[in-house]
Amino acid sequence: ADTDDVHEYAAKLGFEKVSEQVIDECKSAAVLYKHKKTGAEVMSVANDDENKVFGIVFRTPPKNSTGIPHILEHSVLCGSRKYPLKEPFVELLKGSLHTFLNAFTYPDRTCYPVASTNTKDFYNLVDVYLDAVFFPKCVEDFQTFQQEGWHYELNSPEEEISYKGVVFNEMKGVYSQPDNIMGRVSQQALSPDNTYGVDCGGDPNDIPKLTFEEFKEFHSKFYHPSNARIWFYGDDDTKERLRILSEYLDLFEASAARNESKVMPQKLFKEPVRIAEKYPAGQEGDLKKKYMVCTNWLLSEEPLDVETELALGFLDHLLLGTPASPLRRILLESGLGEAIVGGGVEDELLQPQFSIGLKGVSEDNIEKVEELVMQILKNLAEEGFAPEAVEASMNTIEFSLRENNTGSFPRGLSLMLRSMGKWIYDMDPFEPLKYEQPLQQLKARIAEKGSKAVFSPLIEKYILNNVHRVTVEMQPDPEKASRDEAAEKEILKQVKSSMTQEDLAELARATKELKDKQETPDPPEALKAVPSLSLQDIPKKPIHVPIEVGEINGVKVLQHDLFTNDVVYSEVVFDMGSMKKEHLQLLPLFCQSLLEMGTKDMDFVQLNQLIGRKTGGISVYPLTSSIKGKEDPLTRVVVRGKAMSTRVEDLFHLMNCLLQDVQFTEQQRFKQFVSQSKARMENRLRGSGHGIAAARMDAKLNAAGWISEQMGGVSYLEYLRDLETKIDQDWDRISASLEEMRKSLFSKEGCLINITSDSKNLEKSGQHIAKFLDALPSSPSLGSDPWLSRLPSVNEAIVIPTQVNYVGKAGNLYQSGYQLNGSAYVISKHISNTWLWDRVRVSGGAYGGFCDFDTHSGVFSYLSYRDPNLLKTLEVYDGTAKFLRELDVDDDALTKAIIGTIGDVDSYQLPDAKGYSSLMRYLLGITEEERQQRREEILATSVKDFKEFADAVETINDNGVVVAVASPDDVEAANKEKSLFSDIKKCL
Ligand SMILES: [Zn+2]
Repeated sequence: ADTDDVHEYAAKLGFEKVSEQVIDECKSAAVLYKHKKTGAEVMSVANDDENKVFGIVFRTPPKNSTGIPHILEHSVLCGSRKYPLKEPFVELLKGSLHTFLNAFTYPDRTCYPVASTNTKDFYNLVDVYLDAVFFPKCVEDFQTFQQEGWHYELNSPEEEISYKGVVFNEMKGVYSQPDNIMGRVSQQALSPDNTYGVDCGGDPNDIPKLTFEEFKEFHSKFYHPSNARIWFYGDDDTKERLRILSEYLDLFEASAARNESKVMPQKLFKEPVRIAEKYPAGQEGDLKKKYMVCTNWLLSEEPLDVETELALGFLDHLLLGTPASPLRRILLESGLGEAIVGGGVEDELLQPQFSIGLKGVSEDNIEKVEELVMQILKNLAEEGFAPEAVEASMNTIEFSLRENNTGSFPRGLSLMLRSMGKWIYDMDPFEPLKYEQPLQQLKARIAEKGSKAVFSPLIEKYILNNVHRVTVEMQPDPEKASRDEAAEKEILKQVKSSMTQEDLAELARATKELKDKQETPDPPEALKAVPSLSLQDIPKKPIHVPIEVGEINGVKVLQHDLFTNDVVYSEVVFDMGSMKKEHLQLLPLFCQSLLEMGTKDMDFVQLNQLIGRKTGGISVYPLTSSIKGKEDPLTRVVVRGKAMSTRVEDLFHLMNCLLQDVQFTEQQRFKQFVSQSKARMENRLRGSGHGIAAARMDAKLNAAGWISEQMGGVSYLEYLRDLETKIDQDWDRISASLEEMRKSLFSKEGCLINITSDSKNLEKSGQHIAKFLDALPSSPSLGSDPWLSRLPSVNEAIVIPTQVNYVGKAGNLYQSGYQLNGSAYVISKHISNTWLWDRVRVSGGAYGGFCDFDTHSGVFSYLSYRDPNLLKTLEVYDGTAKFLRELDVDDDALTKAIIGTIGDVDSYQLPDAKGYSSLMRYLLGITEEERQQRREEILATSVKDFKEFADAVETINDNGVVVAVASPDDVEAANKEKSLFSDIKKCL
C-alpha cells in the first residue's frame, strides 16, 4: 500500500514508473522513473542506509581536447540562479555535514554526487547541486570561464603575459606524470574514431584554444534534463526526492540532447598499432633504463553480457590481482622492468579494455616485454590456472562483494557508479547491482567444466586473437619539460607582440579586475542564500564507539562490539621501539617480505593463495605519530586482517605463519621489492609532491615526522637507490637483519590486539587469540633509546621535471607557546577554505592550496598543489595572520565554520574504521573526556579565538621552514630573488 501511494504521488508529479525491483544484494527496493515531459531518468533506491546519496549525471562526450567538460564541471559550481555567490560549492565544503561532496569528469560523462547522513543537510546539498547544473552563472560570466579554464594574465604592460586557470594548471600537473600520460595516450589510441580519442580533461596545449562560445553551447546542449540520469539512495522519504526534482525538471521542455550525446562504438582494428611518445624526465639516473611500455586491447565492439563481464573481472584478478598472480609475478620476476603499469581490465566505458606493461625498462628490452606478455597469456590459455589460485580469487571477490567495504566512500555512491556503467549507455541500470545470480552461474560453470574451460576461451578470444591491440612506448626526454616551457613562452611572446599598447593596457586592466573580483568576499546577504543547518541540529556528544579493554594471556585486548555483517576485523600491534635503530629504513621492505616471501613449507604463491582462500586479506605496515605532550613518538608495526567469523581461526593461524615462519631467503624477490618501491616513490614525487614536501617539513620539526620520512619520503628514495646497487654484495647481511628484526619486533611484550565484530563473534574469537598468543615468543624488550632525530631545519628545494610546483611552509605552534583548543580545527579549516582557496587557487591559479594542523605534534603546515607560483604562494602563507586579524566573521559564517568542522570530526565510518579509530585514540592516549572537551571548544569557537590563533601562526612567518618540490627554473628564480633555499636536491 505504501509503494502504491508513492507511485500515485509520482504520477501526479509527472513521473512514469519504468521498472521496479528488489535488490537483495544491497537490501534495497529500487524504482526507475521517467520524467514524462523531459525524459529525465531517475533511479530511486530505498533502504536503511543513513548515508544518503544523490547524483546527477550527464552524458558529455567532447569532440576535442580543449577540456570543455572538465572546465564546465568546475565552473557550474561557481554560483547559480538561487545561489548567486562566487562559489556555493566552497560554502558547502565549509558549512555542511556532507559525507561526500565533489564532481567528476569521465571521458564521456560528468557526475555530480553528494552524500550526507543528516536529512536536512542532504536536501540542502541536493538543491544547491541541482540549481548549479541547470542554472549556473558561468554561462553568462566570462570571468568564471577565465578563472577555471584559462586566461592571459598581465599584471602590468611591461611584464610578460602568462597563462592562468585552475584546470589549465591541474592538467599541467597531470601531463607531468608519465603514468598519467601513458594512460591517456593508450585510451586515445585504442579509440581514435570516437569521443575517447580526445582528452576530456584537457591537454594544456589545447585548452587555450577553447572559446567562451563553445563552452556555453556545450552547457546548453548537454546539461539538460533530457540528457540526465539522476540517482537517489538511502533511508530518506522517496516522495520528497521526486518533489524536489519536479521543481527543476518541470521548467524544461524535451530536447534532442539524449540523441546527440550518444557514444558511438569504436570499430575493431584490422591490425595492431604501435606508438611512441616522449615524457618529461629528469637528468638523474640512467635514462636508457627509464622507458615504459604498455600493451592495450579494446576487447569488443559490442557491449558484453553480465556473465562474460563478471568472468573477465575474475580473469583480471587471476592474472593481476595479487603479487602471486602469474601475469604480474612473471613480468616482475623477468627483471625486464621495475614495476607494473596498465590497469588490467577496465570496464567503465562503452567498450571494455585490457592494459598491461612495465616501467623502468631498458631501451633494448621494450620488445621483449611485449613478447613476454603474449607468451605468459599464451601459456595460461594452454595450461589454465592452479585450482588454489581460482579458489583464492573466487573467495577474495566474493568476500569483497559481500563485505561491500567502500572505506570512506559512501556505499550508495559506489553502487551509483556501478549502475551508471550500463545505464549511461541506455542499458539496464539494475543489472550491475545484481551480482548474486551471475556469480552462482559462473561458480557452477567452473565446478562443472573446470576453470580452464571458462577462462582459456576468454584469453584467446579477447586478448590473444584480438588484433585491436595498441602498444605504447614512452621514451624519457630530459629536454621535454624545458622545451614545452620554451614553446609556451614563445606563443605568449607572439600574443604580446601582436597586441597594441591599448590592448595591453586593457589586458592589464582586465587582469586586475578579475583579481579584485576574486579577492573580494561575497556580501553576507549572498552567503545567506546557501542553506545551512543551525547549531541546534548538531549532536552535543562525540560519536560513541564501544570499547572494552581486557586481557588474554597477559596481553591487552581491545574489543569493539559493532554489527559487522559477520566479518571479524583485527589488528595485532607490536612496538617498533624494540627494534634496532639502524634497521628503521628496512622496515617497509621487511613488512612486504612477510607477505611476499613464503615459508619453509609454502612458497610465497601458495602462502598468498592461502590468505586469499581463507581470509578477506592481511596487511602489515609501520605506524608512527607524535603523542601530544610527550617527546617520545608512537612507533608501532600493525598486522591487520579480516575474515568471516567461521574463518577466524585461519586468520590468526595465518598471521602467526607470517610473523614466525616466513623465510627471508629470497634475494631476487627482495630485489624486486626494492625496485617497485623505488618506482612508487618516484611516482609519488611527481604526483603527490605536496605529500613529499609535508613529510620533509615534518621530519625537520618532530621525531615522528623524521621516522616516517625515513620510511616514505625523499630520504627513503635515496636509501632505496643506494640499496638497489648493494643488494647483491650485501644480501647475507640484509637477510640477517630481517631475521633480527623479526626476533626483536614480534613478542608478547609490547603486543596489543584490537578486534571489531558483534558480541557473539568477539566472544568466540577469544580462544583463537589465546592460541595465537601462546605461539608468540616471549622476549624482554631491548629497551632501547627513544627516537629523537630530526632533519636539519633549513629551507629546502626538491627539484623535479615538472611544470607546476608543490610549495610548503610549516612551524610548530606548541613550541611557540600555543595551547591546543578545539577552535583550532575550526580556524584551520576556515583558513584553508577561504584565505588559501581564494589566494592560492582562485587568484593564484594553483589546483589546490590548504593548511593542516597536526594536533598531536603541534606542526601547522601550509601546502599548495600543482601550483604555477612559488614565492607568491609563500607571501600568501605569511599573510595568514593578517587575514585572521582583519577577518570580519559574522554569526552566520562562524556557525557554518563550526558545523563544517563537526562534519569532519563526525565523518562517516563503517564499523571496521570505527574500531580502528578507537584503537588509535587508545594508543595516542586520547580520552573520552578530552574528545568531549574538544567538541565543546569547537562549538564555542568565537571571533576572539581567530585573533589569538593569528598570533600563533604568525610565528611561522619568521621561524617556519620551507620545502618546495618544484621545477629547476622556479627554484633558480626564487633563489635569485630571495636566496630562499640553502639546500637544493635534484631528485629525478
Ligand atoms: Zn579538475
